[in-house]
Amino acid sequence: MIHIACLHKYFGDHHVLQDINLTIGQGKVVVIIGPSGSGKSTLLRCINYLETYSEGEITIDGKPMGRKMIGGKSVQIPEKELNKTRQEVGMVFQSFNLFPHKTVLQNITMAPMSLKNMNRQDAEALAVSLLQKVGLEDKARVLPYHLSGGQKQRVAIARALAMQPKVMLFDEPTSALDPEMVGEVLQVMKQLAKEGMTMAIVTHEMRFAKDVADEVIVLDKGVIIEHDKPDKIFACPSHPRTKEFLSKVL
Ligand code: ADP
Ligand code: MG
Repeated sequence: MIHIACLHKYFGDHHVLQDINLTIGQGKVVVIIGPSGSGKSTLLRCINYLETYSEGEITIDGKPMGRKMIGGKSVQIPEKELNKTRQEVGMVFQSFNLFPHKTVLQNITMAPMSLKNMNRQDAEALAVSLLQKVGLEDKARVLPYHLSGGQKQRVAIARALAMQPKVMLFDEPTSALDPEMVGEVLQVMKQLAKEGMTMAIVTHEMRFAKDVADEVIVLDKGVIIEHDKPDKIFACPSHPRTKEFLSKVL
């Protein structure tokens, strides 16, 4: 479902992602861990081309995201095609990014109405069902301001799901939350995994990673230094830098 081949990303002279190769099968959950600054966010952002990249190839369900190879050369795909493929990818950030002046319901219905031409009635019905899914059906008419952090993040997940994406990307979705709210967000993500959503998740919640991940990749200075089943990585990491990182976070 997500295929990344020979991906390189530079910020100026800084080689932030170095030859990333990663395939995430349909319905699989991959958790990405690694020290701060190792390139985790940049990798997720490349997957929906929020971040451009200069070399390599990314496809979502077979469709090129951002660039494609033509005659051995990587070229940028047209904006229209890019935006279409982007709709297949939902993303949830650490900082929720809800529209503050729109109600919860409006936050969720906006994109399907404007980007998918869904009529209001259908969009609202979809939004209500998604709010039920994340346990917030009673919050449809309130402004984000009135929600707790955990509730905001669950709305952000519902909003991403409203585009009916094929894959979901999560960048430290619980890092900005008070500890007592982490569980409710992880629970929603667990449920999504169970329902077969394909997901790439950057998180420091190692227990969650052990429970939910099919595979874990460890990024260090822009390089995948380890890629294995969670049991293996957490029980006997093979790379010394993985050991060092885990000793700090476990
Ligand atoms: P992580 O999410 O693992 O903490 P990031 O992907 O945010 O790491 O960053 C990887 C590296 O790229 C870091 O060294 C960071 O400083 C650098 N970086 C990230 N975004 C930018 C940017 N927009 N411009 C320049 N450098 C950046
Ligand atoms: Mg990050």
